[in-house]
Amino acid sequence: MTPDAQRDQPASVPGPDTARGPAPDQELSFQIRSGHAPRPAWVEIDLGQLRRNFALINQDKPAGLALLSVVKDNAYGHGAEGVAREAVAAGAVMLGVNTLQEGIALRNAGLTIGILVVGERHPDELPFCIQHGLTVSVGDLRIARLLDRLAQEARCCVPVHLKVDTGMSRFGIRWDTAADAATEIRRLPGLVLEGMMSHFAMSDEADKAFALQQLSRFEQVLAALTARQVRLRYRHLCNTGGFLDLPQAHFDLVRLGILPLGVYPSQVCRRILGLQPAMTVKAKLVTVRTLQPGDTYGYGMRYQAASPRRIGVLPVGYGDGYPRLRNEGAVLVRGKRAPIIGGVAMDAIGVDLTDIPEARLWDEAVLMGRQGVEEISAHDIAQWGRSVSYDVLAGWRARLPRIQVEEGTQP
Ligand SMILES: *Cc1c(COP(=O)(O)O)cnc(C)c1O
Repeated sequence: MTPDAQRDQPASVPGPDTARGPAPDQELSFQIRSGHAPRPAWVEIDLGQLRRNFALINQDKPAGLALLSVVKDNAYGHGAEGVAREAVAAGAVMLGVNTLQEGIALRNAGLTIGILVVGERHPDELPFCIQHGLTVSVGDLRIARLLDRLAQEARCCVPVHLKVDTGMSRFGIRWDTAADAATEIRRLPGLVLEGMMSHFAMSDEADKAFALQQLSRFEQVLAALTARQVRLRYRHLCNTGGFLDLPQAHFDLVRLGILPLGVYPSQVCRRILGLQPAMTVKAKLVTVRTLQPGDTYGYGMRYQAASPRRIGVLPVGYGDGYPRLRNEGAVLVRGKRAPIIGGVAMDAIGVDLTDIPEARLWDEAVLMGRQGVEEISAHDIAQWGRSVSYDVLAGWRARLPRIQVEEGTQP
């Protein structure tokens, strides 16, 4: 037990509530039989739901449109290998990662499909890209020339996608000189210019003005290349927001990260019927007790009971990636919302169970996901924590065991 948890749980005599759970020896024998050290807080990844999401996206997208599955940052916390395998099974033509290490890990896991490493590369990384057969996103001619030299020395030909900066101003060659860059890259014998890409700064919000401007800049580059008889296998601009709301920007391929996970990038973009989150985060109530009027809960005494309150504690906190909320937010217990009381600690979250009298010690609570008809979405947690759904999904720490399940969250 961490010092934090010790301090959060005074060694008082347990209240009468503790007697109402399953017999302790039953629980213990189950843990011993299961063969691995259990933790009463975990992340479930529903592979069946992931599969359904990919199938729904395939039904939704135009037939000729290719899919690149973005599995960077461990597929936003869902497990890169598992998501990558579902993507390949669903017909994805490529995978996308951000770091060299992420690409190498997928190769080591036995995936042989094209892997595009997005973002910018440092020269030191290039030999490893070649060695592991990764497709390099090139946004700088110096990197292109260096990669060409290394590829020739290794007697191989490296596939590259030219990254065009159409207004994001992070990576890539500015659109007004990108056609010249593409022409030069095409002449480098160690490289194969397989694609050209750009990235939207704002594709998932109602105002599409800047996205359309970026699209028009991308089209300018393509027109210049067509005039020079340069043809590319994959022209791509869309992330999830663009895929959903800007069909005129689809080109040959779309790069989808969050959508197959069943989560939308924003509250306003188009919905696909049946798409559901693949991730659920759960924890068991490890103490249930009654506060008397005037009793306080947790660090800083941020919560004080005004009347007798029945509360529970979940053994999970900001050390697991939950935002450090204070008297805000809720979890689901017995299909009902239990409000968070006090401050979220590193290892403990207190919840008010007064209005859920049927709640019992060791009940399963849902921090993110569905329970019965209620749901707490990544967007809900993002709103409470003043963040975005991407950050909430990817934010669950490795300390929480990942459990792959197959049953599906839909009835
Ligand atoms: C992360 C990323 C994506 C995926 O974006 P989603 O909104 O999750 O679909 C696509 N393209 C690039 C270049 C990215 O970095």
